[in-house]
Amino acid sequence: MLKAYTDINEIVTMKAAYHKDGRRLIPDDLSIIRNGAIVFDETKILWVGDTDRIPAQYRPLAKNLKGHVLTPEIVDSHTHLIFGGDRAQEYADRLNGASYEEIAKRGGGILYTMQMTNEASLEDLFSISCERIERLHSYGVGSIEIKSGYGLNFEREFELSMLIDRLKKKYRTRVRIFNTFLAAHDVPKDFLNSSTYLQEVVLPLLVKLAPLRIIDAVDIFHEKNYFGPDDVHLLFTRSSELGIPCKIHADELNENGGAKLAAEFNALSADHLLKISDEGIEILAKSPTVATLLPGTAFFLGKPLARARAMLDAGVKVALASDFNPGSCHCDNLLLVASMAASQLKLNQAELWAAITLNAAGALGFKGQGALIPGMDARFALFKTQSLSHITYNWGRNFSISLP
Ligand SMILES: [Zn+2]
Repeated sequence: MLKAYTDINEIVTMKAAYHKDGRRLIPDDLSIIRNGAIVFDETKILWVGDTDRIPAQYRPLAKNLKGHVLTPEIVDSHTHLIFGGDRAQEYADRLNGASYEEIAKRGGGILYTMQMTNEASLEDLFSISCERIERLHSYGVGSIEIKSGYGLNFEREFELSMLIDRLKKKYRTRVRIFNTFLAAHDVPKDFLNSSTYLQEVVLPLLVKLAPLRIIDAVDIFHEKNYFGPDDVHLLFTRSSELGIPCKIHADELNENGGAKLAAEFNALSADHLLKISDEGIEILAKSPTVATLLPGTAFFLGKPLARARAMLDAGVKVALASDFNPGSCHCDNLLLVASMAASQLKLNQAELWAAITLNAAGALGFKGQGALIPGMDARFALFKTQSLSHITYNWGRNFSISLP
C-alpha cells in the first residue's frame, strides 16, 4: 500500500552522508529538505522532495505532517537487553565507594546477572524483553541488536539465541531485531581458561546454531582476563567458514589490538574502543568496519570517553549505541545518550545523526537503510517538533510518535 506525507517541516535525508559512506561529514551532509514530501510503499522509498513538486498521482494519498520532523530510523546496534534481575544495589554500592573487586566479592557483577538469567523462566525473559523492546521503540528506535551472553552454558546460551529469534519473529518488520551470538561474553568459573570454554561450549554451540540460520553475527569480549587474540582468531575463522559476520568488544579496558583484529576479519563493527591506539584508528579508517562508541557506559561508570574526534578526523565510520545492560549502562534511551555525548565527543550534527542512523545500520550490515533516498528501505523515525535541532536540544524529552 502506498503512503504519502507532505508539508513535513524537515526531512533529514542524509543523502550526502550516504554518498560519503558516513565518513568525514560536515553539517550540510544531513541533506535536509524543508517543507518536504515523501512517498513509499511497504518496503521502499519511492519519491522524496519538496512538497510543491510531489507528482500529481500521489497527491490524493497525501497526509499533511506540518509540525513534524522525519529522519531515518534510529538504530541501536549494541544492546544486551535479555537479562534477569538488575544490579541497582551494585550501582548504589559503587556510588558509595565500593571497588569492582569488593562488588565481585559480594557476589555482584556479570556472574550475578548470569545467575539471575539462568534462574528466570524463558517466558519471563521473553515478556521482559518485549517490554524493553517496546520502550526502546517508543523513542524512535526501529532496529535493535540483541546479544545473547548471560547464559554462559551450552543449554542456556542455545535457549537465549532461540529466544532472540522468537523476538525477531514476533516483531517482524515493526522492529527489526538483529540476533548476535555472544556466548563468548565471559569465562564461567568452572572452566580452566577461555580456550577450554571456547572449545567445549562456544564453538560447538555455534556449529549447532549455524544451520538454523538464525544468527546474524558472532561477537566476543576480547579483553585481558577474558578472551585473548587466539580465541578471537579461532572463533572468527570458524564463523567466517560458516558465513556468519563478526563483531567484537574491542580495546575497552586495555589497548590490545582489538581494532586491528576487527579489520583483519572485516568485522561489521568494533565496539567500545576507549583505549584504541593511533595505529588502531588508522587501520579502522581504511576498513569498512564501523567504530561503535558506547558513551552511556563511560557516563555510567564515570570513565573518560572514547577519542571520537580523532577517529572521525581520520575518516573512521563512527556509530553510537546504548550498550543497554544491567551492570555498566542501565540506560535504554539512545537518543538521550547521543544528545549528551555530542557535546562531549565534539560531534557536529551530521556526525551525531549518522552515528545513530546510517552508520549504526552499517554496524549491522543493513546496506539499504539509513538514508531517505528512493530505493532505500522505508524505515523512519517521526518526531512531533519543529526542527531536528529541537530533538537533541531537549535532552531526554521524547518527541517520537508512530507514523499515522
Ligand atoms: Zn557490550
